[in-house]
Amino acid sequence: MKNHRVELVEVGPRDGLQNESAIVATADKLELVRRAIDYGVRRIEVTSFVNPKRVPQLADAEELVAMLPDHRDVTYIGLVLNRRGAERALATGRIGELGAVCVTTDTFGIRNQGQSSDESLAAAMEIVALAREAGRGGQITIATAFGCPFEGRVAIDRVVEMAKRAADVAPREIALADTIGVGAPAQVAETVGRVREAVGGLPVRVHFHNTRGTGIANVWAAVQEGAAVVDASLGGLGGCPFAPGAAGNVATEDVVYMLENSGVATGIAIPSVVEAAEWLAGVMGRSLPAMVSRAPAFP
Ligand code: ZN
Repeated sequence: MKNHRVELVEVGPRDGLQNESAIVATADKLELVRRAIDYGVRRIEVTSFVNPKRVPQLADAEELVAMLPDHRDVTYIGLVLNRRGAERALATGRIGELGAVCVTTDTFGIRNQGQSSDESLAAAMEIVALAREAGRGGQITIATAFGCPFEGRVAIDRVVEMAKRAADVAPREIALADTIGVGAPAQVAETVGRVREAVGGLPVRVHFHNTRGTGIANVWAAVQEGAAVVDASLGGLGGCPFAPGAAGNVATEDVVYMLENSGVATGIAIPSVVEAAEWLAGVMGRSLPAMVSRAPAFP
């Protein structure tokens, strides 16, 4: 079932940065997007259209989006949590795809976005419909798909049921996100396999955080089960402001290294990712969690 080619979505500008307390300049975010295009990524989650009081780091969403380079092959993704966010994203004219997020548990849903699990799924489905009406793409992420910081392990049946319902609005893809980095490879393999069966040919994307060291193994388990798209963040930046203890995303350079050296093409050039990660560490003023960009070049 393993794919020999997967698509990487760079989520550094949004998920990577949103938990950083020091505000990163819009010009640096723009440079991050430019570099992601240079190293070969063709879908980039650039920002989210949420309440700037809740996520001050992304308060420059409209300003950043207006400055994004025109690139025929590149899709810019804006994350939205409700109709208002969707309208803001669509009004920019530059966001080609809306990323909607639903959550598996009521407790996380209420804290993260003021919605129960079912309400968050209904909202996500509405966002995909709005995107389609506007001639844009829409995709749905099931967050906390492998565990919730408040309710613990999440039953795979619940994830499968949500994915099945989400598939009714024919999103571009369905993503399974390990928001707090608690998943392990066997669980990931089973979940991805069962979700793929349930969604009738829709691509499955995966999103992992390396909070407990299982992130990269989870990517591998997911790809083995046919996940077609993988989220990653340059340098391994990232966290979630509403998920206690959430650590960085899997790092773009680490995922590319693992996949390319295992016969799975990503379309991404390691030397330019590593150079970009070194630049980003300079912007952030510290070394970043990724491993490949801190190790000697090989071969
Ligand atoms: Zn995340």
